[in-house]
Amino acid sequence: MVADSAMGTSNASAPPPKSHPVKLNTVRVRVPVEDPKTRTQDFKEVIHSYTLEDAVLEAKRCIQCGKPYCVEACPITQDAREYIRLIAERKFDDSARAILTENPLATTLCKVCYHYCEDACVVGKKGVPIAIRQLKRAGLELGKSDLRYVPAPLNGQRVAVVGGGPAGIMAAWELGLRGYEVTVYESQVRLGGQVNTIPRYRMVGPELEQDLDRFQDLPVHFVNSTRVGTDISTDSLIYGGFDAVLLTMGATEHRALGIPGEELPEVYPAFSLLRDVNEVYPPTLGRKILVIGGGDVAMDAARSALRLSGGGEVTVVYRRGRREMPADKDEVHEAEEEGIGFLFQTTPLRILGVEHVEGLELQQTELGPPDASGRRSPRLVPGSQRTIPCDTVIVAVGQRAATEGFPSELELQFGSQGWPQGAGEDFMTHVEGVFATGGRSVVYAMAAGTKAAEAIDAYLARKRGGSPAPRPDPWGAPTPPAKLPRGYGRPTWHLG
Ligand SMILES: Cc1cc2nc3c(=O)[nH]c(=O)nc-3n(C[C@H](O)[C@H](O)[C@H](O)COP(=O)(O)OP(=O)(O)OC[C@H]3O[C@@H](n4cnc5c(N)ncnc54)[C@H](O)[C@@H]3O)c2cc1C
Ligand code: SF4
Repeated sequence: MVADSAMGTSNASAPPPKSHPVKLNTVRVRVPVEDPKTRTQDFKEVIHSYTLEDAVLEAKRCIQCGKPYCVEACPITQDAREYIRLIAERKFDDSARAILTENPLATTLCKVCYHYCEDACVVGKKGVPIAIRQLKRAGLELGKSDLRYVPAPLNGQRVAVVGGGPAGIMAAWELGLRGYEVTVYESQVRLGGQVNTIPRYRMVGPELEQDLDRFQDLPVHFVNSTRVGTDISTDSLIYGGFDAVLLTMGATEHRALGIPGEELPEVYPAFSLLRDVNEVYPPTLGRKILVIGGGDVAMDAARSALRLSGGGEVTVVYRRGRREMPADKDEVHEAEEEGIGFLFQTTPLRILGVEHVEGLELQQTELGPPDASGRRSPRLVPGSQRTIPCDTVIVAVGQRAATEGFPSELELQFGSQGWPQGAGEDFMTHVEGVFATGGRSVVYAMAAGTKAAEAIDAYLARKRGGSPAPRPDPWGAPTPPAKLPRGYGRPTWHLG
């Protein structure tokens, strides 16, 4: 990482410029990407950094909106305006610090966030939105980002967090900054949860460790390779010395299709396949691969399978239409650029083969009225069954939480993509002092972690006869940063 302190000065609190650029520049400075023709041969990173001059040019396109749609669309309400302005002024150190003040997993997010902010950016109405995620990356790479967070004095209360994914890590950051002693239990060897399955062509690998390095002085202890519910009991946390417990176990268990043939050896759950690829135990895949599903995991599985197939053919099979496909549109575009095929309005009936996968029986669907998810529900078209040959099937139709060993009294609810959730607004389960939350993307999980931490802070402040505190300044300054950025109206997102 390049840290050029000559570029930055300590001017983070300077007021924003009074005038906006006179002329709107609707053309984005080109983001450097690998050629789609050659990039499928390996797992090397596809998107590269801006140069310093390109970052400054792109940052200057931002019109510093008084009403910041980009901020309202960001689940963690990160004020992108400030760090973009600092980049435009070539103050990279200040920009890195501004980013990290609000966002402790920024090194991860600048590679993998689905950038809801860019979709909302007003410049996008006339041309191409500001490359906010790419500018965040520039701020962190060109500025001094190896900082360390500073906690408030310990307040004597302890919180256990179950699950070291983005929701749990964010909650630990919020609580650790406020002076709670936090222990995070993670069942896997590595922290990060589903982030560890994101392919290396999007996220090289050490990003999360770089983020966690800034936690070193916080009263947060990570206990890896320990599964709550089996290695240690949930009761030992609930009744054994912690003042509150937060469950952020995510959804890491494969959801099967439930069709004949799924037990054949060349049928892979996408989640574990992607984790194995990152842990350098990739299986040898066939040459004609079908991926079932239309979400982001299906796109990652398809693009990874293409890289593993040595010039094979990969097709995504999705039961609804292109418009209904939940995958991020950039991911779909990049998959298409790489030559992945798509079969829309097609549903699998059974996987064919005796000892090995030989084909897939499919049926056409038509779309009926919207279902509970708001998307049009697929109905089978009678007489439209057909078979296509294949030697590998990857199933990417969702995950669910692994709740083995958790007491039924918790009466856990489940979020839209399977993560456990408390019953009410405050995320508390039916057991007092036990909270649960999660999220559908990294930044949504972080936002959920913040909300749960605020609820825990309110609950524990009541218990000690105090009042909940706003997030302290993460660098130890006496005044906490403003709760919401200037001009912020109401969020355009909701946790769900
Ligand atoms: C292949 C893939 C690609 C993705 N790509 C992106 C992307 O590009 N951008 C994006 O924003 N989002 C992406 N996501 C989604 C994102 O990773 C998740 O929404 C997010 O990680 C959810 O965070 P979480 O903390 O709620 O849960 P998780 O990330 O699932 O973390 C939960 C953690 O709890 C641990 N755990 C579970 N049970 C126990 C237990 N009993 N005891 C102890 N520990 C336990 C798990 O091992 C896990 O580490 C992707 C997801 C997948 C699967
Ligand atoms: S909406 Fe776009 S132009 Fe406006 S402040 Fe945000 S990034 Fe800048």
